[in-house]
Amino acid sequence: MALEEYQRKRDFSQTPEPPPKVGKGARRRFVVQMHRASRLHYDFRLEMDGVLKSWAVPKGPSLDPADKRLAMQVEDHPVSYFDFEGVIPPGNYGAGTVMVWDVGTWEPQGDAAEMLRKGDLKFRLQGKKLKGDFALIHMKARRPGSKGTEWLLIKHRDAYDQPGYDIEQYSHSVLTKRSLQEIASDEGSAEWTSGKNATRHGASSKDDWLAESIAKADAKKKTRVSKRNLGEAIAKPSAETNPTQTRASRARTSAGKVSPAAGVKKKAKVTPGD
Ligand code: MN
Repeated sequence: MALEEYQRKRDFSQTPEPPPKVGKGARRRFVVQMHRASRLHYDFRLEMDGVLKSWAVPKGPSLDPADKRLAMQVEDHPVSYFDFEGVIPPGNYGAGTVMVWDVGTWEPQGDAAEMLRKGDLKFRLQGKKLKGDFALIHMKARRPGSKGTEWLLIKHRDAYDQPGYDIEQYSHSVLTKRSLQEIASDEGSAEWTSGKNATRHGASSKDDWLAESIAKADAKKKTRVSKRNLGEAIAKPSAETNPTQTRASRARTSAGKVSPAAGVKKKAKVTPGD
């Protein structure tokens, strides 16, 4: 399983996206990227066999079991796309802004390859935003000439379902806390490259991969802020789209959850499976 289609669609001298390289190892991470291209959508990606199996979800995932979200399967992406956040310049495939909307691990509820082949993929997510049981169901082609790429992404009922879930309440990056607009207006974003360190071996904790991605994002942020005029940095809007949770409280939450290696104690009130 290679990444020919991913490669064919892109000019890597023009886009900051990572090169097509099939990964090793059998980790099961997932990422959801919010992507404002010609149309806003969310890219849902599951790490499987050294690549990220990918679906474009126009309305984004939902925790409401009543929502059946159309998910168009797209080309496999390289595993290093996992922490890609930034701006794809105009003229390139997928030109626009990409935010790492959620990350975590996934657990197939059966044989992953077989479920994928049969078009009935059941899995459990342990992300920062998405948790619990989901299914991706392949739909029969609805019309002649259809590419057969249409799936539905559905939340199952469990302890994590949220009737009335509104994705717009969660429009911030889990890596950098930024909104799409902040990523788009940030000069540093276009230089973002996915780091090689995130896939190194011998990690001492199962959460190291996430801690590394966030540390990398933090380092990048410092560089950006120091390049910026201080007044402008302070004037940056920080309320974003969720008025009930401040930027600072989100930052504390992230630190408590993802930095066990840094000696930060987990908060007492963690949800099961967090
Ligand atoms: Mn996309």
